Amino acid sequence: MKILALNSGSSSQKSCLYDIGDSLPEHPPNPVWEAKIEWNGSQADIDIKTSAGKTFHDQVKVTSRRHALEHLFRSLWEGDAPAVGKPSEIRVVGHRIVLGQHKFEEPILVNPEVKRVIADASVFAPLHNRAELEGIEIMQRLLGHVPQVAVFDTAFHHRMPLGAVVYPGPYEWFERGIRRYGFHGINHQYCAHRAAQLMRKPVDSLQLVSCHLGNGCSLAAVDRGRSVDTTMGFTPLEGLMMGTRSGSVDPSILTYLMRSRKTDGQQLDQQLNHESGLLGISGVSSDMREVMKAKESGDQRAKLAFDIFVHRLRSGIGSMVAALGGFDALIFTAGIGENSEAVRQATCENFSYLGLKLDPAKNKKSPIDQDIAEQDSRVRVLVIRAQEDWAIARECWKMVSRE
Ligand code: AMP
Repeated sequence: MKILALNSGSSSQKSCLYDIGDSLPEHPPNPVWEAKIEWNGSQADIDIKTSAGKTFHDQVKVTSRRHALEHLFRSLWEGDAPAVGKPSEIRVVGHRIVLGQHKFEEPILVNPEVKRVIADASVFAPLHNRAELEGIEIMQRLLGHVPQVAVFDTAFHHRMPLGAVVYPGPYEWFERGIRRYGFHGINHQYCAHRAAQLMRKPVDSLQLVSCHLGNGCSLAAVDRGRSVDTTMGFTPLEGLMMGTRSGSVDPSILTYLMRSRKTDGQQLDQQLNHESGLLGISGVSSDMREVMKAKESGDQRAKLAFDIFVHRLRSGIGSMVAALGGFDALIFTAGIGENSEAVRQATCENFSYLGLKLDPAKNKKSPIDQDIAEQDSRVRVLVIRAQEDWAIARECWKMVSRE
């Protein structure tokens, strides 16, 4: 069964095609085709990788985001690297939907009602939800009545206890939908199940803290398979320090800036989402690799950026452990989590009092889907590759197979 998984952003899109047989493989398979497209106004850069390991790069003039995406998807059956003979070979399309507003707990087949909820939620996550809706419509036009499945990044956090969900502002906020939704749920859920598989224990016997550390960063406290707390909230801005996002700051800073500097809402959004985090503090880059290079060459602001990142990460993990009342494993996933020996080492150092012992030799190798704790560590430390696209494809396979 050929399954297309789409992960839309406002200026980029990742797409993977999987070919799955009659049963789900135990370990995540490689996609048979994967593509990344990035565009800036009039130009799109497309990178395609096929299962044979061939890579293709293309640069095209485009008039809109829709134009760029249609060009990309047509390359699935036309051009230099077709992955299917004809469009109808694609059996199902899955979409990562960032905000489901807790209307949907599970992946669901797209119908007009689902599209309406996604459109309504775009008041809260305008960049993401509009792009995702457009992806659904493009697929409808290109593939006709192919089943499309919406997989929500917020769904995994749907059953968090109200104590973790409701902001202690006026109760009316909660009644108006201002509450903690949480994000990165597709990957946190995938990591919890993968951790159980790697530890050879049922997920419902484990308490886990999952650290998704990429351009966006969040933690999840997973109690026997259920998310009970997370660091992102009403939007993906809350919580940890990120590449260009500040994470949590005292809200009075914003009212102070509005009063004393006449900074308006749009400028605050820009500063908090695009001019803060690793980039804002270091002045060097939002990319942890560049920050580390600058730090190693003696740049004091890069060192400060790293120190804040680790400080907030440790505090966040402490709060997740407290929400769980203990933990069996700490999971590192996504670009920084999977690759940065320095971040993992600095983070784990402060949890030795709980009996967590990182194996420095294993940590240095950044091995994927492996345990990097010492044998006698009371808490396992796992590096798990983020597999959102596979997690989406798996949900599509289950839905179509059930039918
Ligand atoms: P993601 O959003 O999962 O693609 O992760 C992007 C982040 O991962 C960027 O901040 C990259 O700098 C970071 N990253 C990727 N490779 C490494 C590495 N080898 N060491 C440190 N950070 C890395």
